[in-house]
Amino acid sequence: MKALDELTFDNRFARLGDAFSTHVLPEPLDEPRLVVASDAAMALLDLDPTVAETPVFAELFGGHKLWAEAEPRAMVYSGHQFGSYNPQLGDGRGLLLGEVYNAAGEHWDLHLKGAGQTPYSRMGDGRAVLRSSIREFLASEALHALGIPSSRALCVIGSSTPVWREKQERGAMVLRLARSHIRFGHFEYFYYTKKPEQQAELAEHVLNLHYPECREQPEPYLAMFREIVERNAELIAKWQAYGFCHGVMNTDNMSILGITFDFGPFAFLDDFDAHFICNHSDHEGRYSFSNQVPIGQWNLSALAQALTPFISVDALKEALGLYLPLYQAHYLDLMRRRLGLTTAEDDDQKLVERLLKLMQNSGVDYTLFFRRLGDESAALAVTRLRDDFVDRAGFDAWAELYKARVERDGDGTEEQRRARMHAVNPLYILRNYLAQNAITAAESGDYSEVRRLHEVLSKPFEEQAGMEQYAQRPPDWGKHLEISCSS
Ligand code: AMP
Ligand code: MG
Repeated sequence: MKALDELTFDNRFARLGDAFSTHVLPEPLDEPRLVVASDAAMALLDLDPTVAETPVFAELFGGHKLWAEAEPRAMVYSGHQFGSYNPQLGDGRGLLLGEVYNAAGEHWDLHLKGAGQTPYSRMGDGRAVLRSSIREFLASEALHALGIPSSRALCVIGSSTPVWREKQERGAMVLRLARSHIRFGHFEYFYYTKKPEQQAELAEHVLNLHYPECREQPEPYLAMFREIVERNAELIAKWQAYGFCHGVMNTDNMSILGITFDFGPFAFLDDFDAHFICNHSDHEGRYSFSNQVPIGQWNLSALAQALTPFISVDALKEALGLYLPLYQAHYLDLMRRRLGLTTAEDDDQKLVERLLKLMQNSGVDYTLFFRRLGDESAALAVTRLRDDFVDRAGFDAWAELYKARVERDGDGTEEQRRARMHAVNPLYILRNYLAQNAITAAESGDYSEVRRLHEVLSKPFEEQAGMEQYAQRPPDWGKHLEISCSS
């Protein structure tokens, strides 16, 4: 276990030089204080979790102090936002403080979000508010606990610094961890600014650091692109299977490592709704829940375009063609498991589709349905769940198919079925209203609710004593919260 001054830095991205990022110092927040920290994320850096409570922790992650070896840089990138190319993006309010490696030799980027203005801030103030920082913290740690690849969050530091959004709020910083902060938009930037040498340097950097096994392939860049396609197909399958809606799938928010990245107006589904739009400024529903699947492919095509200097168009097209079948295979595999099935049958896809169609507009809670389906035998579970459906006859017909399918699966004892299903069907998810309750308390200076919620969500599959209130459907006020897109 390390103390804070024992972190070891190796700033590989910073060494790429000024064409890739700009040196910027964090702008400190007034009266920095710890809101919440993640022990699990601290462990990634071998940090002793008790250091979070020391004043120097809030000073470091509130922008007051810096390690001598840190090299804070704002990265430049561009990207497609809502389908249109924006040439002028980059870290407008976040800084890559440096790369730290742990005892296992794993490198982690330390990225401080809300650290003040940079050359890429455009009209922005370079700040992040407490509300959005708490949401990013909770979501990244909750997704990780669900087994969904995500950037991680070490801590949120609150402050007394006023920040203006729709109203006056308080500034905060979130310390984000990721193996890399390189986005699709990084490649687009060098492609559209016609800087082939730097683009090649970037590609070499990603290949060497993150896809070294692709070096063994006859066409390393193509192998790397294929791997990126595969990882994103798997990621989006997990979002769809667990009801996660990202909300702003612009190419500057897509990770080259296939992790969930850049949290804004995201939401987990409460009631199942394939057409759900969590981003209230997304008037056309470009990033609606079900559109995440084709948008994943669209974004990969944008990356493919940027890679045309290195890879033939035919090879890129072929690799893009892997996306949908891979997505479908992962998704079906996850949904089979969520249904408690251990074998595969041809009609399983239809069984899943039919269930989702029944859930649509029936007000069925997506998370609790699967959890309850595993609480008891299939026959008893469907009898209890049928009351949730508007179309009872439709549900009964599905239930007959499902029971027969379970029978053919030969799924072991009831105890085994329960354990197997509860291991993949969470009881606790980050519902918007739960996040909102924690934010409201935190905004009045009480951080206990954020900390408790984080704790509960770190073990989403385990029933936790005294935490029943976190496993409920939302109250009426919490069902259709308009989450502000300003952050
Ligand atoms: P996001 O919607 O958070 O992914 O941000 C899109 C772009 O706007 C990125 O280049 C951000 O760095 C930038 N940005 C967002 N909010 C701010 C802000 N308050 N100040 C400066 N830049 C910002
Ligand atoms: Mg972004």
